[in-house]
Order: sequence, then C-alpha cells, then structure tokens
Amino acid sequence: MNVGNVGIGGNNPIRVQSMITCDTMDTEASIQQTMELADAGCEIVRITAPTVKDARNLEHIVKNLRERGCNVPIVADIHFKPDAAMEAAKWVEKVRINPGNYSKKFVIREYSDEQYAAELNRIRERFSPLVELCKTRGVAMRIGTNHGSLSDRILNRYGDTPLGMVESALEFARIARDLDYHDFVFSMKASNPKVMIAAYRLLVARLNELDDEDACKGRGGSPEPPGRLGSIAPTWNYPLHLGVTEAGEGEDARIKSAIGIGSLLADGIGDTVRVSLTEDSPHEIPVAKALIENIRNTSNAAHRTSNVELSFDPFSYQRRATEKIERDGVKLGGDELIRVVVRQANFDKVAHKIDRMGDYKPEITYETAQIQEVDPRDENAVAKINAERSAQFVTVTDEIDLPVIAAFRLLSAKLHARHPILLKDVSVGAADLNRPERLGSIAPTPDFLTTLLTASTNIGSLLCDGIGDAILVQGEEAPGQALRLSYNILQAAGSRIFKTDYVACPSCGRTLFNLQTTTAKIKAATLHLKGVKIAIMGCIVNGPGEMADADFGYVGGAPGKVNLYVGKTAVKFNIPEAEAVDRLKDLIREHGKWIEPAQQTAALEPVL
Ligand code: SF4
Repeated sequence: MNVGNVGIGGNNPIRVQSMITCDTMDTEASIQQTMELADAGCEIVRITAPTVKDARNLEHIVKNLRERGCNVPIVADIHFKPDAAMEAAKWVEKVRINPGNYSKKFVIREYSDEQYAAELNRIRERFSPLVELCKTRGVAMRIGTNHGSLSDRILNRYGDTPLGMVESALEFARIARDLDYHDFVFSMKASNPKVMIAAYRLLVARLNELDDEDACKGRGGSPEPPGRLGSIAPTWNYPLHLGVTEAGEGEDARIKSAIGIGSLLADGIGDTVRVSLTEDSPHEIPVAKALIENIRNTSNAAHRTSNVELSFDPFSYQRRATEKIERDGVKLGGDELIRVVVRQANFDKVAHKIDRMGDYKPEITYETAQIQEVDPRDENAVAKINAERSAQFVTVTDEIDLPVIAAFRLLSAKLHARHPILLKDVSVGAADLNRPERLGSIAPTPDFLTTLLTASTNIGSLLCDGIGDAILVQGEEAPGQALRLSYNILQAAGSRIFKTDYVACPSCGRTLFNLQTTTAKIKAATLHLKGVKIAIMGCIVNGPGEMADADFGYVGGAPGKVNLYVGKTAVKFNIPEAEAVDRLKDLIREHGKWIEPAQQTAALEPVL
C-alpha cells in the first residue's frame, strides 16, 4: 500500500515514522518540526488532530510543507472524534484511528449480545463515511489498537488481553473490507513489551487463519501478496506498524523499544516502525533505523535450522519451568530471580568496588559456574546433558554460526525443561576465544547504541518467550556499562524489578506541560523508590487509559494543572503544576510506598 509517495509492506523497505509534539494550531512550529523530522530521515510524519479545528489546520500545514519542497506524507492522529477524522482525511495522506476510542460512548460496562451487536452497528455507521472518504481520496489508514485504551465493549468480552486488542482491530477491518477498502495497516501497541509481542504475533496468526477461512470458502486468500486473487476477495495480509507505547526516555526507553520492536522484526514481523521516546522526536529516528539495520544480526532468515516445535507458547508468557540450582552461592532457576553473570576478567575489573555497586552487582562468574556449553544442533551433546541426573546450567557455545535468538530457541526446544539456561547477547566467536584477553568482550561494535539494541533484542526477545534463568552481556567491553545494561534489560522485559519504573508518553499536540522537564523532575524526586511504577502522561484524553499498570499517575488535566492518579483512579484534581511533584510525593507517602532517599543504602546508579 502507499501513503502518499511512500510504499509500505510487500517488497518495500521497513519504513521509519514519528510524530511531532507541538500544538497543531501552531502552523509554523508544526511545519518546522515536520521538516526537522524529514531531514533526520523520518519517512512518514504524524500530527495529532484532537478537534475539527486542528484537523482543518492540517490543510495549511500540508500546503506550506509542499510549497517548501517537503513531500513527507502526513498522518492525522485521531482518537475520539469522527468529525475530526472526516476533516483531516481531506488534507492528509493517512489517518490513524484508535478502535478503542473512536466514537466512544462512556456508559455501559456490561454488554448483552444484543447491546454488543447494536454498538457494533453504531460504530459501522460512524466509521463507514470515513472509509468511503479515504477510498475516494486514496487516503491510507492505520487501525491502531492500544492496549491501554480498549473499549468497554471489548474489555467486557475479551478482557484486557492481546486477544481483545486483535479483535478490536479486526472489527474495524471487517467494516473497511465490506466497503472494499484495503489501504490500511494494523498496529497493536502496548507499554509492556510482552503484551505487545504477544498481540502482534496473535494478529499475524489470526490474519493467516482468516486467509485460510477465505481460501476454504473459495474466496481467495494467500499466498498472493496483498491485493486481489483474481477478481475475488483480497488477502488479509495487511502491513503492520510496530511500536512500544509510553516507553519513556533515555537508555531504558531504547531498551524497551528494542525488546518489543526488535524481537518482532527479528521474527520477520513489521513493515513500518515508530520508536516512541519522551525526547525531541528527531532522536527517535536513529534508534528506529538502527533497529532495522540490526535485523540481519538478529533474524534467522539467512540460516536454516531444523523444524522443531517451539518450547513456549508464542501468544502468552510463561517462564520455562526449570529446576532450582546454586552457583557461586547464588540460587537460580525455578522461580528465583533471573541472575546476572559476568566473565572472570570483568569481575576482576570491578571486584574492588563491588560493595559500592548497589543493585548493579555481578552475581555469578562464568568460569566458576560449571556452565555446559553446547551447540543445540549437536544431538549427542544435548542428549548427554539431558541424561544427567541433576539439573545442569546450560548455554549455547560461542563457536556457533546461528543468530542468538534462533540458537537459544533451538536449545530450549531440545533441552529438558529442568535445566536452567544462561542467555548471551552475542556469540563471542572462535577468533576471540583463541585470545583469552578478549574474553569478557568481543570485537567492539561501532557504537554503544548498536550494542544496546542487539543485547536488548536478543536477550529481551528470549526473556519474553519465557526462556532464560541468567543472562550474560558480553557485547559491551566496559564492565560497569555491561552490568547496567544487563539489569536494565531485565527491568524493561519485566523480568526483574530493581528500580523505579517509569511510563511516560512521547507527548504530542495535546500535551499540557513540558514532558521532558517534568519527567526529569519526577525522576529526580523518585529515583530511589525501588519497584514503584509511575506514569507521566501529557493529557487526560488518552493518558489515564494508557498508563498501563502504573501504581501512580501524573497526568495533565488542564493547562498548568495536573491530576494525580492511584492506579487508574484519579484522586487529586487540578493541582497547580508548580506543586504537583510534591503532591505526588505526598500521595506515594499516603499509600505507604515512600522511603526517604537517605534510607536507601545501595547505590542507585552503577559505579563505572
Ligand atoms: S497521553 Fe501524551 S501522547 Fe497520548 S494523546 Fe495525551 S499528550 Fe498525546
């Protein structure tokens, strides 16, 4: 399909997109931010259109951009208002709608079958004119489900689940298809990478099923790529837009995005990506590009491995059921924490400051942990380990020519579940194994971003598959940095919580305060609250729904005013922005989750 002059899906490259953050009514700022994004390599730019008035201003923004020679396709972001969508579709190349809140009614919590059908009919009535307009004007669409904003109706029937996300999008897709409109992509975003990965995989499986059903009915379907099979029904093989929502900022946000987006790209899923950062939007572009560039390092497309049954359910998370063992006096496996392993050489480099490393300490040393290294394709070697009476600590040998994810999935499939597995971010390679001084590191990658994205994609993907009882980051030479990366990957994957968790929206034209400075202020005040999850959201329109499972929320309520939440419930309203961080601290205190910073004995950041 095409979005303006940019093709998505099929043989097109994976496209990079982003969103501007200023007020859509500020025409000049919108033009400037769009051009900055285009200059940074962004191929599609999204602009929010919360009202008809904003949508109308898209005309001026687009016209000015074209006059200035900027032809980047523009996407209007629509949530609640069909009228705004109808206006925006006159001016832009693509419209994004959110099935969870498009034409939302906020009344019924329980739905009978009749009420459910009636609500679907109401949606059909409200959505069909937009579909017809997009069809007539050649405007593309994204049917963009977000985990945090499913409709009451979908929640009532499917719960807060990946299945609910998929069905929510399919309801809108069926309406579009009934009207013979096919220029749409799907997205299934969530802040939790495990939920997001499961939702996209489930969507792909459902689309394949729908194709099979069509084929059975003799109405067409795969294997033809998108488009019609003869003159009968088109396939369900629509392009996919990948993204992790509310990832936040800095290293943690990049890690979270790599876990979600990177692991799906490694699985061959995804046609366009948006990395959401609570930073200036152009910062998102190099991360997205690096993730795409990295596919050849993480995907198994170029290697053939035997067709074994997966050891895990790709649609729902469950940790692999290993037995507990002990290494270096540390328990691992079973329901123990996922442990952080280092090479002896790196341990020695930090040994003198371990008592100052707080939560970023190395836990197990590779060379003393009796780790069995195996090539999972070697049937005899795997059988030998499986025949052991006691559970063994097993990893993939470094001398392997398989991509990391494929190698560990193969190991997990062949190894008896009782044996705990040590995950590695990269294989060191035979050349480095012959150089003992290189153990603990590999040939330096060009930059830390690539190291971080590779480690997060490889280890994060496997953790989200439920595989792994310990991890070893060996792609980063600096021991302190490798340890920080190890723990941050565990936290971002939701596998081990050791510090405050932040959910922050990327901001957009709806944002009611400066998200970057506010996030920095809140972080400075709460960084020591281990295990507390805080959401920082720019507006009450979408913020509360999208706060994931945060314990506390700081949400823009009105210009200069903040609402505070406990879970998804608003408890304090219209607090002047200048006082809001202190009131948030009070709220955390009231709920027994506050500790004074001085009481925190462990270091909060690694001693590098
Ligand atoms: S939550 Fe943030 S990104 Fe989402 S609509 Fe509100 S301000 Fe925009």
